[in-house]
Amino acid sequence: MSAVALVTGASRGIGAAIAEELAARGNAILLNYRADEAGARAVKARIEAGGGTATLLPFDVTDAATTAAALAPWSEGDHALDVVVNNAGVARDAAFPAMTLPEWELVTRTTLDGFFNVTRPLIMPLVRRRRGRIINIASLSGLVGNRGQVNYSAAKAGLIGATRSLAQELAKRNITVNAVAPGLIDTEMLKDLPLDEVTRRIPMRRLGRAAEVAKLVAFLASDDAAYITGQVIGINGGLA
Ligand code: NDP
Repeated sequence: MSAVALVTGASRGIGAAIAEELAARGNAILLNYRADEAGARAVKARIEAGGGTATLLPFDVTDAATTAAALAPWSEGDHALDVVVNNAGVARDAAFPAMTLPEWELVTRTTLDGFFNVTRPLIMPLVRRRRGRIINIASLSGLVGNRGQVNYSAAKAGLIGATRSLAQELAKRNITVNAVAPGLIDTEMLKDLPLDEVTRRIPMRRLGRAAEVAKLVAFLASDDAAYITGQVIGINGGLA
């Protein structure tokens, strides 16, 4: 039976690339998204065209009740997932004096409540089976900060803390928990940035590709990464 991998926020961008890479490596994909059904269906179609399998699993990661209901088949009993990728995330950049409470809350709730709502119900079946991979998509911004991203940096730094603590709790159960911290990756999330100016600051002089992040995540999800846990792995073209 093939391994089953949940990827949150997989209707486009980095999450879509992770879903496609994990599917290409033989994982059956649970493809989560919140609103972009057309995008999610297109990702599913690409996975199936490549001979993989994907099931759409729409829910809003900030909503604890609907998330729990959607994940119930994998949170009760011994029917564990093999790989959980917490990728869903949003940015609402603003200089801090102008940042609104809704901008603060949306960003922190999507990353932090999202991590909690998705991951906690899935843990006990993993513990009982004594294997599993949890991979959290953080950000360079959560490590070094970034102007205009106090909300986003706080959320991603929190996710890194959660990664390190959960890794320590689960290590003896043979479950690894790691974070990936991308720099600037060419997705819709960057659509409002001055890309020429931004690219000049990157030592490699180009944005990263979602597929490049996906290959790192797929490695961390593989048996080859069995002894890597509690780590934050950067992928940023030399930016830090
Ligand atoms: P995109 O905006 O392209 O995609 C975000 C995805 O998250 C979409 O599929 C969206 O689905 C989903 N999503 C957003 N909110 C929710 C929610 N509440 N519940 C479920 N799904 C949700 O972003 P990227 O692909 O660029 O980013 C992916 C991850 O990588 C994020 O965590 C981001 O912070 C991180 N990252 C990105 C970087 C970059 O340069 N692009 C750099 C560093 C980190 P829908 O539209 O249906 O809501």
